[in-house]
Amino acid sequence: MPITLPDLPFDQNALEPFISARTFEFHHGKHHRAYVDNTNKLIENTALAGKDLETIIKTAAKDPDKKGLFNNAAQVWNHSFFWQCMKPGGGGKPTGQVATMIDKDLGGYDKFALDFKNAGATQFGSGWAWLVKKDNKLAIFQTANADTPITQGVTPLLVVDVWEHAYYLDYQNRRPDFLQTFLDQLINWDFVNANLG
Ligand code: MN
Repeated sequence: MPITLPDLPFDQNALEPFISARTFEFHHGKHHRAYVDNTNKLIENTALAGKDLETIIKTAAKDPDKKGLFNNAAQVWNHSFFWQCMKPGGGGKPTGQVATMIDKDLGGYDKFALDFKNAGATQFGSGWAWLVKKDNKLAIFQTANADTPITQGVTPLLVVDVWEHAYYLDYQNRRPDFLQTFLDQLINWDFVNANLG
């Protein structure tokens, strides 16, 4: 079975006006698809052909000769996860277990929102800002380029893509505005709670 491009969990225009259909046309239809196609090319006729995506990522992460495969496979995983972190009518304060844990571990929602936004805004160049569970506590992470917390022994709960291709058509260089919109309008807290198991 090759690695496949998952459908978006909503229509391409479902997050307008916050993220345009045009952005998804490129971000999902071209960028994410290219990561899938490159991963399949790089595992063809190797021992990793037919393996699941997480196995491919974890194997490639340990092998400096497989940096190209790692980058593409991790980007497949990160984007598939990112789409699920958003929904129409999302954002704002969470409820449920994640709300309790944000209060306990991260100083409450307002401090979380500030720190998460800051993690995204200060990631130099391309990368991702994450909410993860580490040693049974919540933590905010930054990763550069394709790096992903699934190789770091933590449980990813929420992510936002801060590569320019994620926001440039809609926000140009205003990355902090994109991050504020993600917090206020887009986060799918049901998905985040489900990731807490
Ligand atoms: Mn992206």
